[in-house]
Amino acid sequence: LKSGLLQEGQENSREGGAVAVVAAAAEAEAEKKSKVVVCARCHSLRHYGHVKRPDAEVLLPDFDFVAAVGPRLASPSGARSLVLLLADASDFDGSFPRAVARLVAVTSEAHHADWKRGAPSNLPRAVLVVTKLDLLPTPSLSPDDVHAWAQARARAGAGADLQLAGVHLVSAARGWGVRDLLNHVRELAGARGKVWAVGARNVGKSTLLNAIARCSGAESGQTLTEAPVPGTTLGVIRVDGVLGAQAKLFDTPGLLHGHQLTSRLTPEEQKLVQVRKEMRPRTYRIKAGQSIHIGGLVRLDVEDLTVGSIYVTVWASPLVPLHMGKTENAESMMKDHFGLQLQPPIGQKRVKELGKWVRKQFKVSGNSWDANTMDIAISGLGWYGIGLKGEAVLGLWTYDGVDVVPRSSLV
Ligand code: GDP
Repeated sequence: LKSGLLQEGQENSREGGAVAVVAAAAEAEAEKKSKVVVCARCHSLRHYGHVKRPDAEVLLPDFDFVAAVGPRLASPSGARSLVLLLADASDFDGSFPRAVARLVAVTSEAHHADWKRGAPSNLPRAVLVVTKLDLLPTPSLSPDDVHAWAQARARAGAGADLQLAGVHLVSAARGWGVRDLLNHVRELAGARGKVWAVGARNVGKSTLLNAIARCSGAESGQTLTEAPVPGTTLGVIRVDGVLGAQAKLFDTPGLLHGHQLTSRLTPEEQKLVQVRKEMRPRTYRIKAGQSIHIGGLVRLDVEDLTVGSIYVTVWASPLVPLHMGKTENAESMMKDHFGLQLQPPIGQKRVKELGKWVRKQFKVSGNSWDANTMDIAISGLGWYGIGLKGEAVLGLWTYDGVDVVPRSSLV
């Protein structure tokens, strides 16, 4: 936080640094009396009309939603809470705010008995919002399948009986699904509800809230305004003019997910990894004893196979090079090429900085070449889609602490 907040009038726009100022809130008047601290997003909204300045890298400590908002979620007399759980379509499992989802599930469960007895406990509800849908190869996907898949992944992520009041597939960049989402949120929030938008950093929350605000502004002629919320020191922002007179929309700071590979990359490395356009598959047919590297970040080994070969499709940013070769050469690839030909990381020194290189093993069995049997997702990077008819033992190598998630296939 120290590095995230600056003194009046100061602005820090160096890359990787924080852009934040002490607001010239009630301008000269307030200036004289006291100095009001607002976070970068409040400042951006006020001065640039966006929830976040697109060129800004905001370095703030992680936001503890569970501690800051948890106690307000189910109040016996208060208004209903609605939590918008945002997850990035291109990195669903890495970006899904699972601790918050679990909190909503557990809070609802804990108060369910009251509610059944007719006590006026307002159960919090959750809506899953899958962002950046335009990054998926949408022409070859059925929206119903993506919907069901996302719902199942959200439940798996929450690790609890998460009841969703809705699932929305959106693209703020294309305007897909934004109006439906706004209408549904208004309906669920009712006249006096409180709506909390929650998501990992870079999930597309600012872009979505701006799109929602534009959508609602077009109807009401109102402009988006904001106010820092007392007691939530790390910049929960109330966004006015979106939900009507009494219902409130709160924008919460982006969550820092240490299990996402992106969270340990430099801004320059992140640019290579972040997916910007519709994802394109890169498919290999490989045998036992062969490996596929994704940059210097991950490696998949086919350790054992009951059939001749399997299909492996890599879904990741096209700016990250792939390498297919013999597993017996994999160690020398790491030593000689990681950080150089195989980037990111950028520079061999960074390889050590990213942590210990560790392996997880997966046993996969499938009965079709045509459809992928399963995905192995690497949080913050992308996924391998595996297609096979038979059984395989796969080894997945990456840096310690990065989540590796086997899941039913998306594409
Ligand atoms: P935040 O950190 O959650 O507020 O995320 P931002 O709204 O700043 O978005 C992070 C990155 O994702 C930016 O580069 C956006 O341009 C990009 N982005 C956001 N929404 C979309 C979308 O709907 N589609 C695509 N393709 N990119 C998006």
